[in-house]
Order: sequence, then structure tokens, then C-alpha cells
Amino acid sequence: MSRPPQIGFVSLGCPKALVDSEHILTRLRAEGYGVSPTYQAADLVVVNTCGFIDTAVAESLEAIGEALAENGRVIVTGCLGAKGNIVRDLHPSVLAVTGPHACEEVMAAIHTHLPQPHDPFVDLVPPQGIKLTPRHYAYLKISEGCNHRCTFCIIPQLRGDLVSRPIGEVLQEAERLVQAGVRELLVVSQDTSAYGVDMRYRTGFWKGRPLKTHLSSLAAALGELGIWIRLHYVYPYPHVDELIPLMAEGKILPYLDVPLQHASSGVLKAMKRPANTGGTLERIRRWREICPDLTLRSTFIVGFPGETENDFSRLLEFLAMAELDRVGCFTYSPVDGATANQLPDPVPEEVKQERQARLMELQATISADRLRRKIGRSLTVLVDAIDDEGGAIARSSADAPEIDGIVYIEDGADLPIGEFASVRVFESDQHDLYGESLRV
Ligand code: SF4
Repeated sequence: MSRPPQIGFVSLGCPKALVDSEHILTRLRAEGYGVSPTYQAADLVVVNTCGFIDTAVAESLEAIGEALAENGRVIVTGCLGAKGNIVRDLHPSVLAVTGPHACEEVMAAIHTHLPQPHDPFVDLVPPQGIKLTPRHYAYLKISEGCNHRCTFCIIPQLRGDLVSRPIGEVLQEAERLVQAGVRELLVVSQDTSAYGVDMRYRTGFWKGRPLKTHLSSLAAALGELGIWIRLHYVYPYPHVDELIPLMAEGKILPYLDVPLQHASSGVLKAMKRPANTGGTLERIRRWREICPDLTLRSTFIVGFPGETENDFSRLLEFLAMAELDRVGCFTYSPVDGATANQLPDPVPEEVKQERQARLMELQATISADRLRRKIGRSLTVLVDAIDDEGGAIARSSADAPEIDGIVYIEDGADLPIGEFASVRVFESDQHDLYGESLRV
């Protein structure tokens, strides 16, 4: 039997890009292509790029250069591909360039440069598709693109306006993943709260049941699958309030990743974000009243053009009052093509750095304090790995993979990876919890 044509695959970028990679890999395997772990054994290499910030652009261009040097036959896809001629200008010998979310175009380019094998072993493809995450968790992308026009962001230019996936299709994918052993689904998109807006919340079907294409119905239906459901990139639209009771009842994880970006109305206006910080504080208070275990994560940008010391103080005051559990903070950096680049009054680099450090210092005490309140409690965790010292690295409902902290179980060496376990917390620091296993 002859060897099937081999494709090397380099996947860079965010979870949304990862999902694109998974779709392409699934198609490749379905059509009988092999996936090569090395450049040398590959007949052609696909590089899925990121083009969001300058460092990501540089990393992507370097990855393309490396693939060309090591293999020579390269197809480029992903966000960087949508940014004009940047790829071809530096690497004119690439075989093809596509934008993000372009599985069909990538497959067409592969068919042109490396014809499809004659007899695909379709049966070898697992029904859940090929996953790049560990077997026990997976990202579930519910829409592509974004209707907002935040001035610091070029995602709408790269990916277009919001296009939601049909609710029945999303739920079928979720079911297949659960059947394949996934214990946690991470719902992602550019703007999860807006799910279904583009379809005017049209009614779809799942298992013969009518369901509105809306985040509330999607979350409720996902909550029936009996696994962890975690929501990312949830803007605080009014209907987000409907999700909190689902969290309080344990249907979906009591976790919300809400990218707020700032708290000063002037800066939010310049960013073209909705500006109602007082309202946000009041809603956080109500959410916690309904669901005291709610974990709130957010990200902020400091040093946005025109941000004054006064604006920054508003942000610190907000953080002190909101007591968010997890916070990411970036210094503003101009992105090629973003409208914010034309704004006056840039903030000097050292001021940006200093503000970032002050914000993180304040947040460190808040995060540490919130974690300390968990000492003595019993938690359900999902075991991700066993480390060299014989402890288990696990996560609770408060910890998304890769971005949040962990729960370290000192006596957890024999706990099965990818399964739930119970722990009692005896120590905490700024990011993580430490516990002992509660074996039943
Ligand atoms: S930052 Fe703004 S424009 Fe960019 S994807 Fe998010 S909501 Fe959309």
C-alpha cells in the first residue's frame, strides 16, 4: 500500500484559530491525507497564522520562513493572510495565502498542490473530528466575526461581521464531543453574547426540539449534556442576566469571561465601547447575589491614547469595587490598520508600563484575597495532568485552561487524568489553590 500524501501543520494564534486548524485537520484526515509531525516527512506544510498584534505578526512570519526553509512547499491561512500582501511581500514563494475561517479555500489549495489520495480511509476519522486540545476539554466555536467596531481592533476587518452557526449544528458538535470523552466545553467566539443576532434569533432544531438561536437557549441546552460548560468573551448585554440562574442551578459553570477593557467613560467612548461603568458594578452585585460562587474574569487595556491619570484612577476605583477574580491587563499597542492609531495624545511607553504595574499590584491583592476565601472548602475539579513530583494539576470551575490558575493536589498522583475529582483546599496564593484529594 502506498504512503498517503503527508501534510505538516503549524497552528498559531487564539482558540478561534485553533478551531479553524481542527476543522482543516479533520477534513484532511477525512480525505485520506496523513498528518506529518516533522517538516522533513511532510509533502507540504500549512501554517495557520495570527495577525492580531505586532508580536503575533512577527511570530507568524517567522514560522512561515522556517516552514519554507525546512520544507519549501507552504500554504498560509489565518488572520495574517487577510492583512493585504504582507505574507507575499516577505515570502513570495508560498504556494497560496487565504484568510481565517477558510477551510474550503485551504482544501482547494491543497488539492491543487498535492492531489487528494485515491481511496480515503474515511472510517479512520473519529466522529468528533481531530482535536488539538487534550481529550477531556474542547473549544466550541459558535460564531465568526463581529458587529462592533472597537477602535483598537481589526478583527471585523479580518473576519467580517458576525455570522452565527446554526444552533442545531453547534449542539450536534457538542454532543459528538461529549460522546468522545470531552468533560468540559469552552464556548468561544468574538462576541458570545451576540450569538444569533445576525439570524434574528431564528428558530432551529435539536433532537426535533425547536430552539431559538440565542445564547440563553444555547446555554440551557448545553447545560443538559452533563459536562462543564464555560462561557468566554461574554459582553454584558442585558440578556446575560438570564444566564446567572443557570449558573446558580449548576447547569453551566458559574464563570463569566467579560472583556470590559476600561472603566472611564471617556476612554470607553474613544474605544467605541458601551460606557456604563456604574451599571456594570450594579449588575455584578446582582449576579453575585443570585450566584455567590460566580467567578468573573476580565481584561483591560491601559495607556490607550488620551488616557489621563484621572481616567486611570477611575479604572483602579472600579477594580477595587468590582473585586473581579481574574484580570488580564495589556498596555495599548497600535495595531496596523486600527482606527485608534489616528487618535491624539498617545501615552508614553514608560507611563503605560507604570500604569500596568500599578493595576496588577492592586489586582494581585484582590485576586489573592478572593482565593483565600476558598481555604477549607471542598471543590470539584477536573484533572489535567500529573506532574513529576506526584501531584495532580487540576482546575476548578473558576479556572479556564491556559489563562487562569490551577488547583494543585499534592496527593493526587493516582487520580485519573481527564476525570473529575473532589479536593479540600488548604492553601492559596495569588493565582492558585492547593488541596488534598477527598477520595470516596
Ligand atoms: S474587540 Fe471589539 S471589534 Fe474586536 S472582536 Fe472584540 S468586540 Fe469585536
